[in-house]
Amino acid sequence: MKGTAADRSAKIARRRYKSIRKQGYPKRWPDEIATEQRWKCFYCKQPMTRSQRTLDHRLPVSRGGKTQRKNLVAACSFCNQRKGSLTDAEFALYLQQKEPLK
Ligand SMILES: [Zn+2]
Repeated sequence: MKGTAADRSAKIARRRYKSIRKQGYPKRWPDEIATEQRWKCFYCKQPMTRSQRTLDHRLPVSRGGKTQRKNLVAACSFCNQRKGSLTDAEFALYLQQKEPLK
């Protein structure tokens, strides 16, 4: 039984699933997480606009981090770029050394 309607809708469902998996999280998460953080960067605490807002893995995927809500924070694109494959703790340390607290 190939080419039935059920078959086709299963294919569409798979495609939808894939488009979520491309980024690894639902589209609404970046805004939801940013709202929880009051639209301030998790790392530098600066206010973010919607175009600056990125989602960052606290423990990078390259180091075994999972794309799960608890491993994701909203960060400004500047921090996200600087952070690279550091963990959130390492990056906090890096920020302290780079920009000593006054
Ligand atoms: Zn930042």
